[in-house]
Amino acid sequence: MDLYEYQAKELFAAHGVPVLPGTVVETPEQARAATEQLGQTVVVKAQVKTGGRGKAGGVKLAETPDEAQAKAEAILGLDIKGHVVRRVLVTPASDIAEEYYFSFLLDRANRTFLAMASAEGGVEIELLAVERPEALAKIPIDPLAGVDLAKAREIATAAKFPDAVAEQAAEVIVKLWETFVTEDATLVEVNPLVRDPQDTVIALDGKVTLDDNASFRHPQHAELVDQSAEDPLEARAKAKDLNYVKLDGQVGIIGNGAGLVMSTLDVVAYAGEEFGGMKPANFLDIGGGASAEVMANGLEIILSDPDVRSVFVNVFGGITACDAVAGGIVRAFELLGEVGKPIVVRLDGNNAGEGRRILDAAGLPGLSQVDTMDAAARRAVELAAAAAVA
Ligand code: GDP
Ligand code: MN
Repeated sequence: MDLYEYQAKELFAAHGVPVLPGTVVETPEQARAATEQLGQTVVVKAQVKTGGRGKAGGVKLAETPDEAQAKAEAILGLDIKGHVVRRVLVTPASDIAEEYYFSFLLDRANRTFLAMASAEGGVEIELLAVERPEALAKIPIDPLAGVDLAKAREIATAAKFPDAVAEQAAEVIVKLWETFVTEDATLVEVNPLVRDPQDTVIALDGKVTLDDNASFRHPQHAELVDQSAEDPLEARAKAKDLNYVKLDGQVGIIGNGAGLVMSTLDVVAYAGEEFGGMKPANFLDIGGGASAEVMANGLEIILSDPDVRSVFVNVFGGITACDAVAGGIVRAFELLGEVGKPIVVRLDGNNAGEGRRILDAAGLPGLSQVDTMDAAARRAVELAAAAAVA
């Protein structure tokens, strides 16, 4: 999960990283009020989860409350790289002597953590990385040793931070490492990390990506989720612990095992080409267990997607045998009552014969069985195409 700048800086503050206070507002009038409260020159900053806001006109100085209101008016509603600005951060303007760059990230290719730092920060860091890579220090971090003050000094020196602020920068780097580790982040980036005219080092911008796989360790991170920006079906699926991703097609997909579901998406998309471009409507992996409740929850989410015209349940029985899955489908129908859309089931693998018999005997309305994955995909696509015409 990516965080907004204001959320990133709240995390920073909680770990002792120096930041400026700020207020997040949704209207120009609120921006004016926030500026009156601060009683000084402010910066009005678009809160969108993308970089390059400055260049896109999403970061503006305002000397008076009137001006802040006008700047907020101009920024709210802006489209920055496909992200529409709904909120702005009003924060005290800082005088900037120098801008630096700093980040910790997970370096997957080298299977390590990496610190990147440069005394030449600001907006054009990607350009710097390409044109003058020697100006961007890259220091691998041993995950077990972590970053103590000595390591942080090494990074500050490699980055060529000036002597006057190097020690302070090193202390900030240690705190950023604490943030990175304690919050289970895969990215912590500060650009710019500034030196003000009094030689104080401040994180003026913040970008944090949290590792969703570690979210069970951080119940408080749930508050950081932006409900308004989430797909409502994905949000409901997440609440039920389902591995669901909304896609833009018409054929609902349920399968057991991520690999099987991925190949089901391919097979459905391929079969769909012959039927006016029918495509999968979602990814949903119900996993190894495939209990009746999980099946019912999965079907319920998929059937409530208005784009879905047919559903393909593709199960390969393994540890969970097909008869258990079939029982789950039968009980899912009981739990759901009216299903209303055609469902194609393909059962194969462990106890497939028994599973098929259970479904046949149940005589579920709208449900048909097809024995092979290709043929079942074709049938599901055909039904979706027919529903489009009807
Ligand atoms: P980004 O463009 O999305 O990375 O947004 P930033 O928060 O990094 O802001 C972009 C640029 O705006 C910074 O590099 C600064 O030059 C400038 N800026 C941001 N905040 C302030 C501030 O408080 N005072 C001044 N003078 N400039 C600022
Ligand atoms: Mn920035």
